[in-house]
Amino acid sequence: MSDLLAQLAHRIGDTHVLTDPQTIQPYLTDWRKRYRGKALAVLRPASTAEVAAIVRLCHDAGVSMVPQGGNTSLCGASVPDTLGNAVVISLSRLRQIRQVDPVNQTLTAEAGCTLVEVQVAAAQQQRLFPLSLASEGSCQIGGNLSTNAGGVQVLRYGNMRELTLGLEVVLPDGQIWDGLRGLRKDNTGYDLKHCFIGAEGTLGIITAATLKLFPRPLQQCTAWVALSGPEDALQLLGQLQQRFSDRLTAFELVSDVCLQLVTQHIPGSRSPLEAPSPWYALLELSDGAPDDRLAGDLLATLAESPVQDAAIAQSEQQARALWLLRESISEAQRLDGPSIKHDIALPVSAIPAFLQDTAALLQHAFPGVRLQVFGHLGDGNLHYNLSHTRPGNVDLFDDEAQANRIVYDQVAHYRGSISAEHGIGQLKRDTLPHYKSALELKLMHQLKASLDPKGLMNPGKVLV
Ligand code: FAD
Repeated sequence: MSDLLAQLAHRIGDTHVLTDPQTIQPYLTDWRKRYRGKALAVLRPASTAEVAAIVRLCHDAGVSMVPQGGNTSLCGASVPDTLGNAVVISLSRLRQIRQVDPVNQTLTAEAGCTLVEVQVAAAQQQRLFPLSLASEGSCQIGGNLSTNAGGVQVLRYGNMRELTLGLEVVLPDGQIWDGLRGLRKDNTGYDLKHCFIGAEGTLGIITAATLKLFPRPLQQCTAWVALSGPEDALQLLGQLQQRFSDRLTAFELVSDVCLQLVTQHIPGSRSPLEAPSPWYALLELSDGAPDDRLAGDLLATLAESPVQDAAIAQSEQQARALWLLRESISEAQRLDGPSIKHDIALPVSAIPAFLQDTAALLQHAFPGVRLQVFGHLGDGNLHYNLSHTRPGNVDLFDDEAQANRIVYDQVAHYRGSISAEHGIGQLKRDTLPHYKSALELKLMHQLKASLDPKGLMNPGKVLV
């Protein structure tokens, strides 16, 4: 193995082959600190050619490779297993924005650019790259692509799959596929980029991508509204879509339990409304026209809706404060203590029934369980988290598997998905076979075997 490390150092420089146990520790531990792996080394190539060279060496030596971006995966996808026979390949040094083409409305970025860097590069050309996540300062474009990241504006712009026109990928044997096309139409056979988007690094290493840009909105209106239940939230969503069409760019659902966690744990945060309500929606309208009718039109629509109370941001600062409440929920949950997290997708129309039935089943199995529900309602994506029961009750964490089964069986009943946007990783790898058909799994295994016959790319993730 020392031979291989020497050859790798020869290709990318010995300061970029990290082996010191303390130095590599952050690369081996996932964001939630749930998984701690081991590795032979962490490799930090600086270009596509360097990625290809080290992948070829590892492939020939039969060494497993774990691609890593910002390491913000919430399902343990970006860290190695505990066998210690893999290398982590960090893409952080592939940082160039190769091209911004404002006329073609495209941007080509290397995989290690953070999401914020891509947003800023687009903004400098008066364009919008709309992907937006709470982890955007750390997560990288390669990671966003490999998890098919979603976030808060999927309702209007789609997730990473829909935002991508072309990819450059280093295949598991070191070949480079140059698919960096900025075309909106290209019907020349199978659309290969979709094999790699959402593959969680199991089929190859993405080194660059050509992404779609959009005109920057000139006007935005953000509001926090109180609702008595999820049915009312759906009615409001329908009214807003009817009135504003794709100018509705975000529609987030937040339960009062989640808002209380934020106001309790995040210093300086407070509810925007005087009276509490069981549910809230955070909504945003965006318009390319520079007039100021948006807030007036929103008020008129809210007056005819089931909304009980509303706070409409009067400045960018106020809008930011409303978004901060939403974006702080994960951190507030973390500070509150352990919880069992589910990132699920459902047909939007099924959400009220799902919430009602599932809460009843969980309360029966785990009396006193606390549900922390929030998410991207407009996309049918809920973060459905369960936390401590009160002392004296059955402890939920004694039987996480049963809690998961109840939630996922309900998801399956409503023809939903057990992972809406975070992926499978290690966390849901053993659960996936229960909820995908045998044929879907067989096709996935066949794809994996044809692109990575030695099984070297991110082993132990997604597929058992
Ligand atoms: P990593 O965590 O490093 O890797 C993720 C996966 O991609 C791993 O399987 C890894 O092997 C693979 N990978 C990374 N780079 C490459 C590459 N170049 N080529 C091939 N494979 C690669 N996700 C959402 O979708 N929506 C959200 O709203 C959202 N909010 C979040 C909020 C917080 C606070 C946090 C911590 C995470 C959130 N996430 C969200 C999850 C996470 O940020 C995203 O999945 C993100 O896209 C991961 O990017 P990353 O660069 O950190 O990837």
